[in-house]
Amino acid sequence: MKILLNELKEGKTDFFYELEKKQANELFENTEIKRVKLSTDGWIQKKGPEFVLFLHVKGQGELTCARCLEKFKYKFEDEFTYNIFLGKDPALSRKEYNFSEQDAASLYIENYELDILPLIKEIVLLSLPMKPLCKEDCKGICPVCGINKNIEKCSHDSKGKYSPFVDLMKKLRKTK
Ligand SMILES: [Zn+2]
Ligand SMILES: [Zn+2]
Repeated sequence: MKILLNELKEGKTDFFYELEKKQANELFENTEIKRVKLSTDGWIQKKGPEFVLFLHVKGQGELTCARCLEKFKYKFEDEFTYNIFLGKDPALSRKEYNFSEQDAASLYIENYELDILPLIKEIVLLSLPMKPLCKEDCKGICPVCGINKNIEKCSHDSKGKYSPFVDLMKKLRKTK
């Protein structure tokens, strides 16, 4: 979705945008989240030559659990504010602007065409957990026989709770 900054009226312009399936697939190709559905609402404010953009992104997608490797549905929601600067050199253009929102990311664009899709992508990717889990107490996969311990039980189960140290200990033992 592109916003043409030179066509905006003074003041705030609200917008709502829903990502199409094909667009979502392209945007999140080669990322850890799949089957993304999302919508974004926000506003862009123009004051003379200066712009502030606010994006609120909400949706869901599919992640792979780091423990059991099963896919699961993940919901995300986040928002971000950007100060938009026209021009190439950040150090130079910054001096000319004083309308900037504090605690906002600075965005430099070289022409009046602002594409918000890369920004949406960034917001979603930043909201993802470092270690995605299908559930807090996911039991993971048995390191011996490979079954999903959330679904099945095996005789290697006796130690009970999953511990990330188990794998580490095994590796250490092997290297000795
Ligand atoms: Zn899991
Ligand atoms: Zn087992």
